[in-house]
Amino acid sequence: MEVIRVGVLGFGGLGQAAAMVLAPKQQMRLVAVADRGGWAYNPSGLPLAELLSAAKTKGTVAGIPEWGYEDSEGIARVIEQPVDGFFLALPNLPNTFMASVARQFMAAGWRGVLVDAIKRTSAVEQLLTLDEAFQQAGITYLTGCGATPGLLSAAAALASQSFAEVLSVKITFGVGISSWEQYRSTVREDIAHLPGYTVEKARAMTDAEIEALLDSTNGLITLENMEHADDVMLERIGVCPRDRVTVGGVVDTRNPKKPLSTNVQITGRTFEGRTSTHTFTLGDETSMAANVCGPAFGYLKTGISLHSRGIFGLLTSAEVMPGFVH
Ligand code: NAD
Repeated sequence: MEVIRVGVLGFGGLGQAAAMVLAPKQQMRLVAVADRGGWAYNPSGLPLAELLSAAKTKGTVAGIPEWGYEDSEGIARVIEQPVDGFFLALPNLPNTFMASVARQFMAAGWRGVLVDAIKRTSAVEQLLTLDEAFQQAGITYLTGCGATPGLLSAAAALASQSFAEVLSVKITFGVGISSWEQYRSTVREDIAHLPGYTVEKARAMTDAEIEALLDSTNGLITLENMEHADDVMLERIGVCPRDRVTVGGVVDTRNPKKPLSTNVQITGRTFEGRTSTHTFTLGDETSMAANVCGPAFGYLKTGISLHSRGIFGLLTSAEVMPGFVH
């Protein structure tokens, strides 16, 4: 297998974790990154320590010596480089942003594989409308390839096979991070799910307002009945109607220890008429970053294989299995 040339768009909490996940891999090489401040490209691979140091000390990957460039159109610049597949570790703020980035790839005539870890149902629905456009463009786009949706919705699709009818899919996640600033967009997007908030409202909040909100909850964000695309993805492949899928969880923004164990419970009725529940629980030691970036690259590997067979268009993480990247 040839080494897959990978790009990562967005170099915040998830983008940086993605670079760390990729560093020891033989089958994938991180050659391109972009963030709000610029971009960097090296066909032989971008060195991890220098990338992380540029992000930390200069606030952008543009600060990496030799290969970094300041540019407000970093995404447009990396699209022009030879890259096989991108992980879009970008915030989806506004809620139409990811779909607009996808259109940017198509407008540039780019061909290859795109993978996102997007969360909202309405955001995935926007991408679903682009299926035919991706097919014509020669792009294999895999959406919802993080943890939820992603690892957990895929597990639900697998677990559903025991049943004649799936009665409910209940996803409960626990996330622990040492500070909200590590994953600013993730936290902002989670706040947008709280009662009384919207994506636009959360996007417009100042850092001081976010901190005040987190102070009032002791750093915890408790979420119920979230608008999460696990529902539309499982409905699309026929597992169950979307109203049987629920997602909620607790994010502790002040403690890397998970406040609860992330799990998905799939309840169904077997062909014999018995009702039962399969539970898939993630190990508490696995971080959000591990459970998002691992699947994202596993799906990117699958995407490369599909693309090489001429299979283009929009697929979700619930309809294909992720590969394993060595
Ligand atoms: P972050 O705020 O830490 O980083 C965002 C990065 O994107 C920054 O590097 C920023 O410079 C860059 N960026 C923003 N706008 C840009 C633009 N126009 N052009 C180029 N770069 C731009 O974000 P994060 O906390 O790492 O979250 C990223 C996304 O991952 C969020 O949308 C979050 O919801 C998603 N996420 C998904 C899951 C899942 O399980 N599916 C879990 C966690 C996070």
